[in-house]
Amino acid sequence: MRGSEPWDLDGDVAAIRNRGRYRRMRRIEGAEEPEVTVDGRRAILLCSNNYLGLATDREVIEAARDAAARYGAGSGSSRLISGTLALHGALEERIAQWKGAERALVFASGYHANLGVIQALVGRGDVVLSDELNHASLIDGCRLSRAEVRVYPHKDLDRLASELVGARSRRVLIVTDSIFSMDGDRAPLAEICALAERHGAAVMVDEAHATGLLGERGSGLVEELGLRGRVLVEMGTLSKALGSFGAYVAGSRSLIELLVNRARTFIFTTGLPPAAVGAARAAIDIVEREPRRREAAWRNARAIHAAIAGAGIEMPALESPILPIVLGEEDRTMKACERLLERGVFVQGIRPPTVPPGTSRLRVTVMANHTDEQIARAGRAIVDTLAELR
Ligand code: PMP
Repeated sequence: MRGSEPWDLDGDVAAIRNRGRYRRMRRIEGAEEPEVTVDGRRAILLCSNNYLGLATDREVIEAARDAAARYGAGSGSSRLISGTLALHGALEERIAQWKGAERALVFASGYHANLGVIQALVGRGDVVLSDELNHASLIDGCRLSRAEVRVYPHKDLDRLASELVGARSRRVLIVTDSIFSMDGDRAPLAEICALAERHGAAVMVDEAHATGLLGERGSGLVEELGLRGRVLVEMGTLSKALGSFGAYVAGSRSLIELLVNRARTFIFTTGLPPAAVGAARAAIDIVEREPRRREAAWRNARAIHAAIAGAGIEMPALESPILPIVLGEEDRTMKACERLLERGVFVQGIRPPTVPPGTSRLRVTVMANHTDEQIARAGRAIVDTLAELR
């Protein structure tokens, strides 16, 4: 929405504010710890994607420091010029091994990866089938690709099947989050793979929120469901449970070769900085070696879910450490966020366009290193705040 003059930017911002969608950045002093100082107030942090606490893990930080000391602060160039350091290669080999894939490729971010992959795989004349609750980066990747995009209702397999029948004989890519970022539920991935195979389509899965949390080795939902080899593209981020920055794509040798040669968001951007690469590598080692970390995240998720749902607050079943409390109105959601902060708990309110209109929510996420006491205190604060706003 625009202001009245062509370049009335304050007018644009005012229009956003009038719709109850004005956003501002809250400042956190220090690191993404379980308890932080946000806008000058101490609060339990319940909205970080640092699910395993690895962003502040000593071993991970040490690895970042070592990588920076040996390889410098920046990688100096795009990957295809002179920006591929041995460190990048080692991380990609480590990811491929972890994911049980032939090859892997790292991208500057999950946003870059999703834009680049979709654009590299499909174009005019092709079809993308996309879940309506997919992350914005998948949505934007679909739009940029120039393929025909058909959005199917959330997890609706019947609709997906009929779209596949309608698109026969064309190149069809099905794209889905594995754990949906704002709802915390899981895609029916085994069924999606079976449908894709029946119709000669390919599947791309965004494991941003499942990486580090699901599967015996912690590599995601594809691993947990035993679907390795049945998904064309496994994409995930290094920035959430792995506590660093950047993203990866794992898949066949031919997929990775194609991406290196065609994914514009890979080709035309600088390689990841050494510190991020070193940190991600150390984090993967920890995830593989120490399943107790993800068990702790799950235990905390179960505890806070029980505290909130047990008080009669409506919540979906627990499928991940992302727990949405849908409040509906933007105003009510932001009021709940403010009141919670006054009670010493930071849960950001999530509004459109991040979620569909009328479904504004508190998106609660727990970390493995929250203590039992913090989880109990946060649960009580949420229950009391919502009772007050009823
Ligand atoms: N996919 C999903 C499902 C996400 O939640 C996010 C991050 N919010 C991204 C992709 C983008 O990842 P990044 O933050 O690394 O750009």
